Amino acid sequence: MFQRFSPPANQPKYRFRCLFCGAEYAPDPFRLHCDQEHEPSLLRAVYASQQLTVRPQLPGLFQFIDWLPVEQYLSNVGKPITYQSQGLAQHLGLEQLWISFSGYWPERNARLLTCSFKELEAVTVLARIPQENQQVLAISSAGNTGRAFAQIYSRHGIPLCLVIPEKSLPAIWASESFNPSVRLVIVNKSEDYFDAIQLGRLISKLDGFFPEGGAANIGRRDGMGLTVIDAAVTLGRIPDHYFQAVGSGTGGIAAWEANLRLLQDGRFGEQAMTLHLAQNAPFTPMVDAWKAGEREIEEMTASVAKMRINQASAKVLTNRQPAYSIAGGVYDALTASQGSMYAVTNAEAQQARALFAELEGIDICPASGVAAAALLQAVQSGKVHKAETLLLNITSGGFERLQTECKLHYLKPSLGIDAQAISPEFVASRQSDFCPD
Ligand SMILES: *Cc1c(COP(=O)(O)O)cnc(C)c1O
Ligand SMILES: [Zn+2]
Repeated sequence: MFQRFSPPANQPKYRFRCLFCGAEYAPDPFRLHCDQEHEPSLLRAVYASQQLTVRPQLPGLFQFIDWLPVEQYLSNVGKPITYQSQGLAQHLGLEQLWISFSGYWPERNARLLTCSFKELEAVTVLARIPQENQQVLAISSAGNTGRAFAQIYSRHGIPLCLVIPEKSLPAIWASESFNPSVRLVIVNKSEDYFDAIQLGRLISKLDGFFPEGGAANIGRRDGMGLTVIDAAVTLGRIPDHYFQAVGSGTGGIAAWEANLRLLQDGRFGEQAMTLHLAQNAPFTPMVDAWKAGEREIEEMTASVAKMRINQASAKVLTNRQPAYSIAGGVYDALTASQGSMYAVTNAEAQQARALFAELEGIDICPASGVAAAALLQAVQSGKVHKAETLLLNITSGGFERLQTECKLHYLKPSLGIDAQAISPEFVASRQSDFCPD
């Protein structure tokens, strides 16, 4: 199911570069961190192909394989799409409003069947795994990431151990039935995503398993960054402004890194785009830190965090440990792009969703409503001008549409573990239970 793809030049496809100390490393599908002892930092992929060759003969997002840290591709995968807005653009008086859409919208040939841009990272992370690999990827995620990994790994029959809190079971669906290569572990009666993270981490350290790495995985970031690459290829240039809702911040960092690659390419203009990143009030740790001019996020007590998370309607944006302060993270990306952050209330997000559905003709999820509402704020406050080129990242849409056309299958848990039972010894004693059949 994997097809080899060797870059034309006979040299390593990419190197890792540490964004704190500049150390470089040879390609390695499992590397997540710099070996030097210093503060936390991200590694970035530096591709041998400074110019992008779009390869329309390759499936879906793999047409941008030059700028993905993979040496093989998969069939039957989707891609983000980019189109020019008419309805919303007219309503806002904008001349060049472009939409990046990740999700299901067959009329526009958008066929990410997990309905979110997390599918871009799931596919890319999967394609990084060598064919001879025998280990099982362990990942914990409550919402869109969990569904994206479960669906993609199932579709391709690749082993996966996914850990979620019990209350997230309704998020793990697919429009086709699941393959037993995917094992779902739930933390019983757990409300708190932290328990699932802890269990996932312990499983990933067992023999026979490996961790995914989150924002530290270049596959994740370069997969998500394809929203910007696709837009730039469609427009023929780098947009002036980029709007996205953020939770872990990974997508925002990815957008900035994609922008840097496009600048290096040289054919997409010489001006960087300004990042406009939004969170759902009252859970706005990154917005608060950015507005205070701080690199560090102020500690929130668990009870305050929980209360704010409960009030936010876009749960995918409620990450408590975002990649904000880390070298190469959101703070650095915002600083370099002279960007802005926005706090968006549930009511504003809801209005923006309704407006988008009415004017553009497709349903969008709450997180995308947050991004659209940030665009409305920016237009009102004069941060963007009507002749500028704007890119609005609709990170998830078309779920309602998909539901009218497909019957959804829900992944059944293989086992449930009580939060109190989670310990390294206990997890080690149950190792075989986490392995797919
Ligand atoms: C995860 C997610 C986001 C936020 O992306 P980050 O990379 O976590 O900042 C936005 N929208 C949707 C639909 C998501 O699933
Ligand atoms: Zn380093």
